[in-house]
Amino acid sequence: MQSPEILICGAGPTGLVLALWLTKMGVHVRIIDQTDQPGTTSRALVFHARNLEFYHQMEIDQLVIENGIEFKSGNLWVKGKKKAQIRFGDTGHGISPYPYAIIYPQDAHEQMLVDELQKAGVIVERNTELISYEQFSDGVVATLKKHPDTLEKCRTRFLAGCDGAHSLVRKELHDEFPGGTYEDIFYVADLEAEGPMANGQLNLAMDDADFLAVFPMKGEGRIRLVGAVRQGSDKEQITWDDVSKGIIDRLKIKVKKVRWFSTYKVHHRVASFFRKENVFLLGDACHLHSPVGGQGMNTGIGDAVNLSWKLTAVLKQQAPVSILDSYEPERIAFARRLVSSTDKVFEFINKRSALATGIRTRIAPYILSFLFKFRFVRRSIFLLLSQTQINYRKSILSEGISGKLKSGDRLPWVRFTNGTSIATDNFESLKSMKWQAHCYGLLSEGSKQLFNERGLNYHVFPWDNKIHSTGLKNSTIYIIRPDGYIGLAAVQSEPDTITRYLNKWNIRFSNPL
Ligand SMILES: Cc1cc2nc3c(=O)[nH]c(=O)nc-3n(C[C@H](O)[C@H](O)[C@H](O)COP(=O)(O)OP(=O)(O)OC[C@H]3O[C@@H](n4cnc5c(N)ncnc54)[C@H](O)[C@@H]3O)c2cc1C
Repeated sequence: MQSPEILICGAGPTGLVLALWLTKMGVHVRIIDQTDQPGTTSRALVFHARNLEFYHQMEIDQLVIENGIEFKSGNLWVKGKKKAQIRFGDTGHGISPYPYAIIYPQDAHEQMLVDELQKAGVIVERNTELISYEQFSDGVVATLKKHPDTLEKCRTRFLAGCDGAHSLVRKELHDEFPGGTYEDIFYVADLEAEGPMANGQLNLAMDDADFLAVFPMKGEGRIRLVGAVRQGSDKEQITWDDVSKGIIDRLKIKVKKVRWFSTYKVHHRVASFFRKENVFLLGDACHLHSPVGGQGMNTGIGDAVNLSWKLTAVLKQQAPVSILDSYEPERIAFARRLVSSTDKVFEFINKRSALATGIRTRIAPYILSFLFKFRFVRRSIFLLLSQTQINYRKSILSEGISGKLKSGDRLPWVRFTNGTSIATDNFESLKSMKWQAHCYGLLSEGSKQLFNERGLNYHVFPWDNKIHSTGLKNSTIYIIRPDGYIGLAAVQSEPDTITRYLNKWNIRFSNPL
C-alpha cells in the first residue's frame, strides 16, 4: 500500500470528519478502525450550529438537517409537575444560518460520514488496529494489526490519534490523562414509549432524589432517557431493571420497548498537550467531559476541522510547518474552558445534599423560567452551546484588531437579499474551504491588484448599516482562514499589513508543485 500523507487512527466522528475534509482538499489519507463496523448505538444526539456551518462548507449539512429533528423547546418538570417551558426555536436567529440544534443520532451520523468518504474514494479500513508507532524527524512508522493476525508497517508523514477515550496514540505520548472521574454511574436508554414525555421536546425533570433528561428522537414514540443509577450501581452488570422507576412513573412514561441501554461514568479530563512533533490528538482522545450541553462529539469535530486545513496547507507546501503550532493552543484553551464549565453545571445537577436539592427543585425552576423570558439570555445560551462563540483571538494566526469584532473571531454570518427574493449570504464562499479576503463596502483597485498578484480569492459584499451590528466594519479587509475564522483584520490604507501577514505565514494559494 502506498504511504499515506496522514494516517488517521479511529473512525469515530472525529476521525471521519478529519478524513473527509482532508480528502476533499486532495490529501491522501488512510483511516483505520479496530472494529468491524461503524458504531451501531445512538450515543451523541445533539449536533450544534457551528458544526452545521462546517458541514455546509463540506456540503453535507442538508444530510443532517433532512435526517435529524430540530430542537424546538424544552420543559422543566419538578416532582412530576411542569414548572416552566423554554422555547429554543429562534434563539440563534441572525447569528447562524442554523439558529437551532439538531437531534441526529451518532450511529446514523457516522454511517453518513462513512458513505460520504466512500463517495470521495476512501474506504475505512476495518478490523485494523494500531498497536504501536515510532516517530522520526520526517514522519511516523505505525505498526498495524489486521485481524486476526497480520502485522503491517505503515509509514506516514503525520499520525492523527482520533482513537477515543482509551487512545493508544495518547498513551504512547502521555503518562497520564489529567482530571478525574465521578463516582456515580449514569445510564442512557433509547425507548419506544407513550405518555406526555413523547412530545417531541426536551424534558428535564427533577425530584428530591433524582433527575432525568428526556430527549426526543425520530420515529413515533421514540425517546431517550438519561439519568443516574442510584441503587444497584455496585453490580457488575447493570440492566434496565436496576434503574429506579420512581421519577419515570411520576412523569407517566409508559415504556413499550427498550431499544438500547447502556451505562457510563462521567469523566472530566484534558490531556496536557495535543501534539508531539508529527503526532496529533483529537476528540475524546484528548478531552473528556460530562454530557451536559452535548459538547463532546461537537468539540472533536471542531478539532478535526481546525487541524485539517493546516495539515493540507503544510502537505501542499502552501504554508510552513510552523502553522501547525497553532493547533494545540487554539483547541486546548477551549477544551479546558469546556471541561470546567460543563463540570460546574453537572455538579449542580448531580449534587445530593439537602441544600442543593432545595435549590434545584424550589428555586432554580422559577429563576430559569424568569430568565428565559429574555431574548438576550436565550441568545447568550445559544452562543455558548452552539460553539459559534469560540474564538482564537490569542492565536499566533490572529492579527489586527477592528472594533468589537477581533481577528480570531468566527466570521459573522450576514444574509443579503439585494432587493430580490433570492437570498445570498457571506458563508457561501466558504465552501471553497480555502483562504479568502472579504470586504463589506468598497474594495480599492490597489487591494484588488494585491489579491490578484498573490492569487488570493476575494469577495466584495455591499455595505448595509444592518451589518454594523455584527461588528464588521465598512470597507475593512478581512483575511478569512479556510475554517471561517478571521486571520487578519486590516484597513485598506495600510496594504503593507496584509502583505506582511501573508508573507509571515508564507501563505500561498495554489500548489507550487
Ligand atoms: C450516552 C452518551 C451521550 C452523548 N451525547 C453527546 C451529545 O449529545 N453531543 C455530543 O457532542 N457528544 C455526546 N457524547 C460524546 C460523544 O459520543 C463522544 O464525544 C464522541 O463519540 C467522540 O468521538 P471520537 O471520534 O473522538 O471518539 P470515538 O467515538 O470514541 O471513536 C474512536 C474510534 O477509534 C477506534 N479505535 C480506538 N483505538 C483504536 C486503535 N488502537 N486502532 C484502531 N482503532 C481504534 C474505536 O474503535 C472508535 O471507533 C455522548 C456520549 C455518550 C456515551
